[in-house]
Amino acid sequence: MSLPTQGTEVRLAARPEGWPTLDTFSVVRANVPLVGASQVLVRNLVMSVDPYMRGRMNDVRSYVPPFAVGKALDGGAVGEVIQSDSPGLAVGDLVQHGLGWREFAVVGAASAVKVDPSVTSVGAPLGVLGMPGQTAYAGLLKAARFRPGDVVFVSGAAGAVGSLVGQIARLLGAGKVIGSAGSAEKVAYLTEELGFDEAFNYKDGPVRAQLEKAAPKGIDVYFDNVGGEHLEAALEVATWGARFALCGAVSQYNEKGELIGPRNLMQAIGKGITLRGFLVAEYEDLKDEFRTVMNGWLAEEKITYRETVTEGLENAPAAFIDMLRGGNIGKMLVKIAD
Ligand code: NAP
Repeated sequence: MSLPTQGTEVRLAARPEGWPTLDTFSVVRANVPLVGASQVLVRNLVMSVDPYMRGRMNDVRSYVPPFAVGKALDGGAVGEVIQSDSPGLAVGDLVQHGLGWREFAVVGAASAVKVDPSVTSVGAPLGVLGMPGQTAYAGLLKAARFRPGDVVFVSGAAGAVGSLVGQIARLLGAGKVIGSAGSAEKVAYLTEELGFDEAFNYKDGPVRAQLEKAAPKGIDVYFDNVGGEHLEAALEVATWGARFALCGAVSQYNEKGELIGPRNLMQAIGKGITLRGFLVAEYEDLKDEFRTVMNGWLAEEKITYRETVTEGLENAPAAFIDMLRGGNIGKMLVKIAD
């Protein structure tokens, strides 16, 4: 096969104010860089769109640098090595790396992780077996200090992270698992397929009233993926000594202007609530344990997962926006090539 000299990539065309639109992005043809020492050329097969990428579109200091206007975006991807200048990686190897949003990526061999070709799906290293899965596992066990018997509430429950949090809590002996999500179809998925005890559609009415109904004795753990009204409701319904893992605040990422925090934070004092914000990167030392445990659960069919796959790199911008609007069940992925 002759090696490509050009490929498609998706760039940040302009920084969005509020919701991103298709004009936030440009899809262009660009030269493929030459492969240097200890690098590989990868033909990307699948890439991830994640909520954190919205934060990187803003020009603010954060735990990851912002995307540059006029440059290709980046993020998790899995692809096939088609040229190698590294003894550890051969043509044909499947690798996971951080240069998604493009058809062909030149990746330092040290930043490319080999993927077992027998993996359950080519997107699994970007979801159930990857960063979202590890976020669910570490967030529940370490940040929330989960204990068997806990009544656990998770928001964003039908998404990549949330759908795993609920299943892990159930497997490890939660007293009750409650989830919230944004459609009737998602609610049915939680209770009928994933084994959540209770679930509600947060668009059906105030979160607090729906949560109180689902958890009449209160919640011991809240795994917060969305912030805002959900976080306020969870503070109201929490039991004494409850533990909150603050994982994300996707309801706020596209808000313009000043963000308003929970108005009832005072509840944390009277109830002795622990609010523990975390980044998955903090728990890097759990990676091997997580992979072993999750692979075991998948093999025994104790955990199930879904992927929502958009076809075509040129549709990655639409997939990203759709994910922020709730168009996904499970992990949102973009298929770039077969
Ligand atoms: P995801 O849940 O698969 O996708 C995002 C979901 O957010 C959508 O499907 C949508 O579902 C929900 N959503 C959008 N607007 C909402 C709103 N106003 N209120 C409630 N829900 C809303 O994404 P993910 O990758 O699993 O990430 C989930 C959260 O974890 C995000 O906040 C992300 O930033 C965070 N995260 C944090 C870490 C970390 O290290 N701390 C790592 C990974 C992810 P509905 O249809 O239910 O609205």
